[in-house]
Amino acid sequence: MPVYEYHCDKCNNKFERKCTVEEHGEKRPRCPKCDSLKVTQQFSSFFAKTASKS
Ligand SMILES: [Zn+2]
Repeated sequence: MPVYEYHCDKCNNKFERKCTVEEHGEKRPRCPKCDSLKVTQQFSSFFAKTASKS
């Protein structure tokens, strides 16, 4: 199961989520700290923001 890293734009919290690829495509993660949906996915291999497809 892949681990996805996210960064919250609102409170700058970083968190990880383990979920299947299917779940990842369907669900939007929430920041566990401030409950915001404004989170940006981080990629461990490359940190440049290339994935802008929503
Ligand atoms: Zn947050």
